[in-house]
Amino acid sequence: MKPVLALIGRPNVGKSTLFNRLTRSRDALVADFPGLTRDRKYGTGDLNGRSYMLIDTGGLSGEEVGIDEHMAKQTRAAMQEADAILFIVDGRQGLTAADQQIAQDIRVMGKPVFLLVNKIDGVDADQASSEFYTLGFTEVFQIAAVQGRGVTVLMNTVLDTL
Ligand code: GDP
Ligand code: MG
Repeated sequence: MKPVLALIGRPNVGKSTLFNRLTRSRDALVADFPGLTRDRKYGTGDLNGRSYMLIDTGGLSGEEVGIDEHMAKQTRAAMQEADAILFIVDGRQGLTAADQQIAQDIRVMGKPVFLLVNKIDGVDADQASSEFYTLGFTEVFQIAAVQGRGVTVLMNTVLDTL
C-alpha cells in the first residue's frame, strides 16, 4: 500500500504549489486567491521508485462558516485518510493564530506530523523558521515549494519514517 500524505494548512501557504511539484500535475488550482481549492484532490508522487499518495485540501482558516466550514470538513476527512500529515506554514508571513488552531486540530489526530516552513526563498530560513518551533513539532523542514528547495530531503525523511 502506498503511504497517504495529507497537505494541511491555512489558505495561501503553498499547499497546491507543493502538490503540483510532487505530483508533476497542473491540475490543482494554484492562485493568489486564498481558499481556491475547495475540495480534496488526490495525486500520486514518486521518489526513486517509492510512490505515495498525496491529498491537497482547501485549508482551514479558523473561521468555519459557509464555504470555510465545507473546507474544514474536507481537511478533517483528508487527515483521517492520511498515514501522515504535512503541515505547511508560511515562513514569510510568520506564525498566526490560525496556524496554532490547526496545530491543535492536527495533534488530536495522533498521526505523524511533519512541519514544513514554506516560502524560505529570498529570506533567512533559520530566522523565518524559529518561531514555528513553539508549535511543538519535532520535525521542522525549511522548503520553497515554488523552487523545489528542501523538497527531496523532506520526502526522503517522510518516506523513511513511514
Ligand atoms: P494554497 O492556498 O495553500 O494551496 O497555496 P498556493 O499553492 O495556491 O500558493 C499561494 C501563493 O503562494 C501563490 O502565489 C504561490 O505562487 C505562492 N507560493 C507557494 N509556494 C511558494 C514558495 O516557496 N515561495 C514563494 N515565494 N511563494 C510561494
Ligand atoms: Mg490550494
